[in-house]
Amino acid sequence: MTKRVVVLGGGVGGTLVANLLVKKLRPGEAEVILIDEDAQHVYQPGFLYVAFGQKQPANLTRPVRSLLDRRVRILTAKAQRIDPTAQVIATDHGDVHYDELVVATGSHLAPDEIPGLKEATHHFYTAEGAQALHEALKQFRGGHVVVGVAGVPYKCPPAPLEFVLMLDAELRAKGLRDKTEIHFVSPLPRVFPIETVAVKVAPIMESRGIQIHTFFNVESVDPKRREVVSLEGETVPYDLLVLIPPHRGAKVVIDSGLGEAGGWISTDRRTLKATAHPRMFVVGDATNLPISKSGSAAHFEADALVANLIADLRNESQEHKYNGKIMCFLETGAGKATLLDFDYNHPPQPPEPNRMYHWQKALFNQFYWWTVPQGRLPGEKQTKEQQEKAGD
Ligand SMILES: Cc1cc2nc3c(=O)[nH]c(=O)nc-3n(C[C@H](O)[C@H](O)[C@H](O)COP(=O)(O)OP(=O)(O)OC[C@H]3O[C@@H](n4cnc5c(N)ncnc54)[C@H](O)[C@@H]3O)c2cc1C
Repeated sequence: MTKRVVVLGGGVGGTLVANLLVKKLRPGEAEVILIDEDAQHVYQPGFLYVAFGQKQPANLTRPVRSLLDRRVRILTAKAQRIDPTAQVIATDHGDVHYDELVVATGSHLAPDEIPGLKEATHHFYTAEGAQALHEALKQFRGGHVVVGVAGVPYKCPPAPLEFVLMLDAELRAKGLRDKTEIHFVSPLPRVFPIETVAVKVAPIMESRGIQIHTFFNVESVDPKRREVVSLEGETVPYDLLVLIPPHRGAKVVIDSGLGEAGGWISTDRRTLKATAHPRMFVVGDATNLPISKSGSAAHFEADALVANLIADLRNESQEHKYNGKIMCFLETGAGKATLLDFDYNHPPQPPEPNRMYHWQKALFNQFYWWTVPQGRLPGEKQTKEQQEKAGD
């Protein structure tokens, strides 16, 4: 009987994995079904630009079908439970059995977890949120702006820094910067999770007069007094508040008891197999890996995952290893950006921001649809020697 691989989630990771699978499987070896509750694929990095009126949400979505190889079957359905023992997914369109499963359900925002956050705060992590923030920025005439992060982990760690630096540039261009105080708050001991990036970006922020508050764990927001309060006892007043809400794993993962704290699935950092469940792989934000939740991570994880999944299907024992590779740009405002290129063993060493990286990011945003999800931008092909060096 033909085996069945189910890819749950049609975001960056799921779409790419499904496309690579049908290219690499032998004819008739297995069918590939992609399940997503949403028939539209959303390019989330574009939301940053929506907040500044530089992109429109309508241009950031495409039908999932249009990004998939025709050999991938698609089911638009909401998964309600995953039973890893019976190897069945219960959906609102019936049960789907699998021989191998790829969980690619991403992360979701949990603003309700912090009192006052939902009512008071703007963010740019959804299309609606980014659009509302754009309207608020159009009305803004000066005052206290507080930008920051209300919980870890959060996807795309560069994004809050990009936003605050682009905001600084925008306010300068509008002649509003000397009427505005900008504060950046983070629960971390520095402005970015990785130190080599933080030591490069914090001085840029300071040179632009952005005040940094580290060890600031948002406890609550008081919309009446317009204050954000930290667990550490600090209170910062605001006129405009932009906080990235806490992130959690997908509801179906949590409801199925597959997630650890926060709803992230325990995943082998090299093979991308779920550590507790055979026949299950995990890609992208859904993992508990100690790396940035990002489209780039999903992109570079896909090759090793697909090779390991096919080996599993064929009962072969060889292992392919993901080396932790991530590559992304970080906008620093006024048409400049820097590059973060790193893996498990090599932290990023961001070069001086320049215009070339900004334009490379702009080009990538444009060409995304024809490259990453369709598997046309190569992943990290490692030599045997590099694989062995990757170790554990
Ligand atoms: C403002 C912003 C800027 C960003 N910038 C960058 C950047 O510059 N570079 C970068 O690499 N990354 C960036 N990211 C992060 C990136 O978008 C995510 O990390 C990436 O989309 C994760 O991919 P994924 O496939 O794991 O999940 P997603 O792309 O989120 O896809 C998950 C899919 O699962 C589906 N799903 C979930 N639950 C169910 C269910 N129960 N049933 C059926 N379907 C379900 C969803 O509908 C969705 O389609 C940014 C994100 C934001 C918000």
